[in-house]
Amino acid sequence: MQNKMEAMEKAEQVLYKTYNRFPVIFDHGDGVYLYDSEGVEYLDFGAGIAVMGLGYHDPEYTNALTAQAGKLLHTSNLFYNQPAIDAGEKLLKVSQMDKVFFTNSGTEAIEGALKIAKRYAFNRDGHGGHEIIAMKHSFHGRSLGALSVTGNDHYQEPFAPLLPGIRFAEFNNLDSVKELINERTCAILMETIQGEGGIYPAEKEFLEGVRNLCDEHDMLLILDEIQCGMGRTGQMFAWQNYGIKPDVMTVAKALGNGVPIGAFLARGKAAFAMKPGDHGTTYGGNPFVCAAADKVLELFEKRQITEHVQEIGAYLWEKLEQFVKKHDCAIAHRGMGLMQGIEFEQPVADMVKKALLEQHLVLISAGTNVIRFVPPLIITKKDVDMMVERLEKSL
Ligand SMILES: *Cc1c(COP(=O)(O)O)cnc(C)c1O
Repeated sequence: MQNKMEAMEKAEQVLYKTYNRFPVIFDHGDGVYLYDSEGVEYLDFGAGIAVMGLGYHDPEYTNALTAQAGKLLHTSNLFYNQPAIDAGEKLLKVSQMDKVFFTNSGTEAIEGALKIAKRYAFNRDGHGGHEIIAMKHSFHGRSLGALSVTGNDHYQEPFAPLLPGIRFAEFNNLDSVKELINERTCAILMETIQGEGGIYPAEKEFLEGVRNLCDEHDMLLILDEIQCGMGRTGQMFAWQNYGIKPDVMTVAKALGNGVPIGAFLARGKAAFAMKPGDHGTTYGGNPFVCAAADKVLELFEKRQITEHVQEIGAYLWEKLEQFVKKHDCAIAHRGMGLMQGIEFEQPVADMVKKALLEQHLVLISAGTNVIRFVPPLIITKKDVDMMVERLEKSL
């Protein structure tokens, strides 16, 4: 116990304080379980914020990482490397996109997508000064470009001025998008399912309407699939539930199952907008992280993860519907597949803490009043039942 207290105190001395952390030190994981430094087992319905799609300590995945670590970690993008080619080919196949650029994070994938939009419009018009429409209550990351398109005053205000030419529409309100379009608008950016904002899926008519507007005005549709992509909704990418296609999309979180890798992908004319010299990264797409992503994509297909998510997601939906009916403090239930949220009347921070420390259930919130359920995609019905049982005890 003393060790743990000392370690946490040391952490507070050493680490730049931008987080209020829970008093737990996780030591290792296995499947959908995490184990803390005292050996206590936790059921994990947060997956490290929707990252650990395949769960913890998957032997096939770990072997692939170990093998690559023993061979070659990094070369820079001045050269070709086989894992990037393999991971890229697999990612294009499941996304129906034409080109991929590997990044180190989600926020960097957004940066790249924004640069494609600007470059595309610059190529067409011969000048800059274009605008991008993003959504209120969105979340796209913490770098200054991504922050500029994140529709949250609280996150933005201390860092103003941000990128000019960003306008915010209301999610799922097509008229509010139409009102913002002018001859300078070059792209519309949104999450297919708003994550941090409280688990709000795009409505079908809205996404179709935005797609049509983009076609009419030669604007790019950029879908942020960083949280909702990689199988989480029961399709590889959430937009595949809607019958439309983006021009540009971003992926990260579950792509590497724990190693830092993201990507932006583009198709059609957008896939050729940027030229050599327009964009780069030292680490991005290195052999190590790409070997991880390549194995993740292979295992997704081999184990039919999306089919499993469809089945278990429906089961989770049923159980959470019952939960909301039974408990007056729960006022709404939203989401798709294994990305679901329950909105409560009251802030959920205390409940999340109680679940963690007393029930050994890892849950994460989205905003103040929503608990989001983004477990590893390999969970079983038994895990869902146990989660609901522990959640009820945490009320
Ligand atoms: C997490 C997230 C990001 C940012 O990704 P990082 O890897 O933290 O930079 C961007 N968009 C969405 C939708 C996210 O959920």
